[in-house]
Amino acid sequence: MPFDDIIGHDRITGILQRAVAARRIAHAYLFVGPEGCGKRKTAVALVEAMYCKDSCGCGKCAACRRVALLQHPDLHILEPDGAFIKIDQVRQLQRELSLRPYEAPFKSCIIEAADRFHPAAGNALLKTLEEPPGNALMILLTANPDAVLQTIRSRCQLLNFQTLSEESVARILVQQGVGQETARLAASLSGGSPGRAHAFSNDEVLSGRHELLEQILSLSGGDISQLFTRSERLAADKENLPELLDLLMTFLRDLLHIQSGSSELVNRDLEEMALREAAVRNTEQVMQMIEHVIETRKALQRNVNARLAMDLLLMRLAA
Ligand SMILES: [Zn+2]
Repeated sequence: MPFDDIIGHDRITGILQRAVAARRIAHAYLFVGPEGCGKRKTAVALVEAMYCKDSCGCGKCAACRRVALLQHPDLHILEPDGAFIKIDQVRQLQRELSLRPYEAPFKSCIIEAADRFHPAAGNALLKTLEEPPGNALMILLTANPDAVLQTIRSRCQLLNFQTLSEESVARILVQQGVGQETARLAASLSGGSPGRAHAFSNDEVLSGRHELLEQILSLSGGDISQLFTRSERLAADKENLPELLDLLMTFLRDLLHIQSGSSELVNRDLEEMALREAAVRNTEQVMQMIEHVIETRKALQRNVNARLAMDLLLMRLAA
């Protein structure tokens, strides 16, 4: 994707475009910004601009198209294998980078989750970051800059991506073919992340949101078997579960807003339901519910069994 099509990061694309025009790009960048905000797209745009037949990232020539599809033989992607990026992966990357480029002027690599290097792997990469073989371009991405090894950070040029405005997120979704109405709602639910908004703009998730809220809010601790049936049904949709929990969280936050006298709701289309639910609980209870949801979200990230996590969540919410 050409730089001009990247929405909401004009300052950063400006810096990169000027560097490309002057052929003075850094050999290692660290892109910092929230999950799904467009770091990877921008990294791809930078590689495109450097490999483009017309030296601009036209988005149309063979080189641009292959980079965009991550199928260019000189572009390498490094991602954590399980919890960490391991030393073998770093060695493999170093071997690739030390080879002569097939067709591009130099090799490139995009490293996802640069906060998840196994320490030995991170240390092994340091020399490459300092002096990439054959002037290779290294672009590291992270949503957690504090967890990136200081020795890695100090060897990269840092670029900070900001959370996007709701309007920018909606424009990105429309660019991806999502309808206006859904795009606006998903953008408002996303907290400024196009990646999350994209996950929310799936109709299954949006309609699941309503059902999930109905089910969870009508829980009562008395009927354990009903509770387990609901948990089973929710856990079966494992793929959408993190998004559903995020949506539940946005709704609970809406309840807090109502209770504090604000009418600024994220789930605008569910205002009636929110007003009703905010009236039957106090703030402390809602905060408690939010904490339970956060814990469940974390448990799922640690790969805890989805069914167990949901059983526990529903029991807590019903208590
Ligand atoms: Zn091109």
